[in-house]
Amino acid sequence: MNRRDTNLCEHAESTVLLYLFGEAPPGYAAHLDACLDCQAALTEHADTIAWVSPALSQPAPITAPRGWWLAPTLALAAGLALTLQPAPQPLPATSQPAAAELDAPDLTWEDPLAADLQELDKDLDALARDVESSR
Ligand SMILES: [Zn+2]
Repeated sequence: MNRRDTNLCEHAESTVLLYLFGEAPPGYAAHLDACLDCQAALTEHADTIAWVSPALSQPAPITAPRGWWLAPTLALAAGLALTLQPAPQPLPATSQPAAAELDAPDLTWEDPLAADLQELDKDLDALARDVESSR
């Protein structure tokens, strides 16, 4: 291989990963055609991705239908409604904040996709380092 270990192309460590996931900037494909560093990095990362892709495609919240969380959320809301319904008397005005606190967990829903993507980024970085250090 014609690879320089010093003065590596700046795109060989970052943009090439975006390219593998179809997220590279529009002009990068032309750069890739001419850049040996990026071509070498592409080959390395493609091997890595092929190696880890079975693990990446397992639970796949990425392909989960939009609104998958709706059923559990509705069930929780129904449970709350049933819990709150048999109140024997109207709540005094001073206890309204307590009712608002019961609704709060639904509003602080955390995006599981973002967490998964962060973890994926870390895993890819670690794998890239492993591949680099084994050469
Ligand atoms: Zn390059």
